[in-house]
Amino acid sequence: MAGTPKKVLVVEDNGNNLLLTKDVLRHHGYEVIEACNGHEAIRLARERNPDLILMDIQMAVMDGMAAGRILKGDPATRDIKVIAVTSFAMKGDREKILEAGFDDYIAKPLNTRELPLIVGKHLPEARDPGRETA
Ligand code: MN
Repeated sequence: MAGTPKKVLVVEDNGNNLLLTKDVLRHHGYEVIEACNGHEAIRLARERNPDLILMDIQMAVMDGMAAGRILKGDPATRDIKVIAVTSFAMKGDREKILEAGFDDYIAKPLNTRELPLIVGKHLPEARDPGRETA
């Protein structure tokens, strides 16, 4: 699979967070597609079949919890890894996120070193940009 970049759908309604996330992922060799609310995320997940989704939780139109539940309840999209991106810090939030079917979560503010590690953990064959594969 070398040479085929993994595709990550970034769902984020904050422009600065979106730019930062896209930069970090592209730097690490991922193909990035983007959505700014839950409805768009579901549509793009079905159309583009990403390998992984980074899902902001707090969004207008449809929030990330609702979108995550729909994606994980649909046989067409349930195998896509979905990582919640959340600034929630209250006790029990981790449980709620995992209960909704998310594969993992990452806390805001985004840590640019932690982000590719978490994504890479769920996409083990992801290309290492520092290594050339013949
Ligand atoms: Mn948000």
